[in-house]
Amino acid sequence: MNTFEYAVPKKVDEVFTFLKEPGSQIKAGGIDLLDLMKEGLTQPQRLVHIRSLEELHYIKQDGRRGIIIGPTVTLDELSSSDKLQDAYKALSQAALAAATPQIRNVATLGGNLCQRPRCWYFRSADFDCSRKNGKTCYAFDGENQYHAIFGNDEGCVIVHPSATAAALMALDAKLKIASEKAEREIPISEFFVMPSANMASEHILKQGELITEVIIPPLTPGWTSYYYKQKEKQSFDWPIAEVAVVMHLHEGKCTDSRIVLGAAAPIPWRIQKAEALLKGNMVTKELAQRAADAAMKDASPLSKNEYKIQVFKTVIARTICWAAGIDPLK
Ligand SMILES: Cc1cc2nc3c(=O)[nH]c(=O)nc-3n(C[C@H](O)[C@H](O)[C@H](O)COP(=O)(O)OP(=O)(O)OC[C@H]3O[C@@H](n4cnc5c(N)ncnc54)[C@H](O)[C@@H]3O)c2cc1C
Ligand code: SF4
Repeated sequence: MNTFEYAVPKKVDEVFTFLKEPGSQIKAGGIDLLDLMKEGLTQPQRLVHIRSLEELHYIKQDGRRGIIIGPTVTLDELSSSDKLQDAYKALSQAALAAATPQIRNVATLGGNLCQRPRCWYFRSADFDCSRKNGKTCYAFDGENQYHAIFGNDEGCVIVHPSATAAALMALDAKLKIASEKAEREIPISEFFVMPSANMASEHILKQGELITEVIIPPLTPGWTSYYYKQKEKQSFDWPIAEVAVVMHLHEGKCTDSRIVLGAAAPIPWRIQKAEALLKGNMVTKELAQRAADAAMKDASPLSKNEYKIQVFKTVIARTICWAAGIDPLK
C-alpha cells in the first residue's frame, strides 16, 4: 500500500477543498476503498474522511420530498430505521442482507452505491483486464459463474455489487450530487453506467463530486415493496440473484410496479416485461411466475452461469408474491 495523507474535514465545504488536491479520494466507511488500496488497485495520495460528518448523517421524513437519507448513514442504521418500513422496506431489507454485522456497522449508503465490482479478475493484481485498461475480459471465456446474464455484450461482464442500488432503483430514488460550485439532483437510474459508456467507472461521478443526499419520493397508500437475496451459502455471502419489487396494489390488482435485479448485469437491471405483465392484473402465484419467466426470456447466459436463469425465475416470482402479501411457499 502507498503512503497517503488523511484529511478529516469538519464540514461539507471543507470536503471540496480537500478533494482539490490531485490524487484525493473520498473515504466513508473505508470497507471497499481500503481493500482496493491493499490490492494495489487504487493508490490515492490523500483520503478525505467523511464518515464522521454529522451534516451528512440523517434519515428524515419530509411530506413533500419523501424520505431523505444522508450518505454516511450506515447499512446497519438503514436496516433498523423505523422510517424505512411498510412501502419503503425493500431498502432496509437490502441493507440487512448485505455483508456481515461488523461490516454493516461501518459501511455507509454512499460507499455501498459507489463500491467497485467484485469480479475476481478485477480484484486480482495478476489480471490486467479491460476494466483496468487492459485489452481482455478474462471472465468472458473464463470463470464466469457469478457474472452477468444481461448486458454482457459490452466488453466487461461484471454484475453490479450494490444491494441498496437495486432497492433504491425500484423505489425510484434520486441522488443529490454536489461539487464545490454546483449541486444537482438526478434519478438513480441515470447514476450507473454500462461498460460501453465508461469502462473505468461504474457511475457518473467526477473527481471532486460527492453524493450528499439520497431521496426516496413519497409513496401513496397502496404501494408496497420487498427485497430478496439468494446466496449460495446461508452464512454471509454475495448474492447470486437479488430482486427488489415495488408495487402499487388496488383490491389485489397491480396498477403499477418497478422490478429491479441485482447480481444480473453491470448495472441494476429493470425488467419492464415482467412489470407490463403484472399491470392491471390480480397478483397470483401463477401470474408472478409468468412475469418471471417473461423477464428471463431476454437473458443471455455465459458459459458457466446458465444456472442463474432458473434461480432468478424463482426469486423474481417469490419476491413479487411477498410484495403482494402472498406466501409463495404455500
Ligand atoms: C465480506 C464482504 C461482503 C459483502 N457483501 C455485500 C453484499 O452482499 N451486498 C452489498 O451490497 N455489499 C456487500 N459488501 C460491500 C460493502 O457493503 C461495501 O464495501 C460498503 O458498503 C462500502 O461502503 P463504505 O462506506 O465502506 O465505502 P468506502 O469503502 O469508504 O468507499 C467506497 C467508494 O465510494 C466512494 N464514496 C463513499 N461515499 C461517497 C459519497 N458520499 N459520495 C461519493 N463517493 C463516495 C469512495 O470514494 C470509494 O470510491 C460486502 C463487503 C465485504 C467485505
Ligand atoms: S468482467 Fe470486467 S472486471 Fe471482470 S475480467 Fe472482464 S473486464 Fe475485467
